[in-house]
Amino acid sequence: MRHLIAGNWKMNGLATSLSEAQAVAEGAKAAEGKADVMICPPATLIERMRRATQNSPLLVGGQDCHPKASGAHTGDVSPEMIKDAGGSAVIVGHSERRTDHGEADDLVRAKAEAARRAGLTTIICIGETEAERDAGETLNVVSRQLAGSVPDGDPSDIVIAYEPVWAIGTGRTASEGDIQEAHAHIRAGLTARFSAAGSGVRILYGGSMKPENAAAILAVADVNGGLVGGASLKAADFLAIVEAASGG
Ligand code: PEP
Repeated sequence: MRHLIAGNWKMNGLATSLSEAQAVAEGAKAAEGKADVMICPPATLIERMRRATQNSPLLVGGQDCHPKASGAHTGDVSPEMIKDAGGSAVIVGHSERRTDHGEADDLVRAKAEAARRAGLTTIICIGETEAERDAGETLNVVSRQLAGSVPDGDPSDIVIAYEPVWAIGTGRTASEGDIQEAHAHIRAGLTARFSAAGSGVRILYGGSMKPENAAAILAVADVNGGLVGGASLKAADFLAIVEAASGG
């Protein structure tokens, strides 16, 4: 399965950052057919990024969405709005949303169902905290989040991102053995629930992926790409990861 490298810009990016996205879009052309490339900028930049990179294979996505299509929800953005702005995907259940906004699995699942309604690909994030790993709970947490956050029905519009919370933005990465164990567990959970369709769901690794470690992580079985935070902000770093995902 072709790797997907998705950049999560988090709350970073102004109009001046669009030149980075344009450089990534050029690199995405070189990777076309070998790896898929996406940037999820803040909602304010989705439409401008789409326009600035048109005629390139770069995919643009949102970082979160509300379950409703519209209504009295001040400050929220619906999946229909992301689609309308030119986005084709959305991240839901990122650990920063789970922690900062108290989002639990049932809300994450409702958001994923809403994204499906709007015709978006959904990147659903799961992963254990450091305390949960230390307590030997990693695989249980991952199973629980997978069961609770992923909607029923055809999973062909779903991507899972395994992101150990303690590795996000910390410079620490999970070992290749730990990544393999978690991804194999997630794959088994997906095929148990969705049969053959579960084997076609991409499972991304996220957590301090960078040019120096990308090739090794992307070579791990059942790693189908990466969700990249800090290293997605600089086109040169992000494209080095894309190159690793394209087979060198
Ligand atoms: C993320 O935000 O999903 C992430 C993995 O961040 P970082 O690459 O900075 O750890």
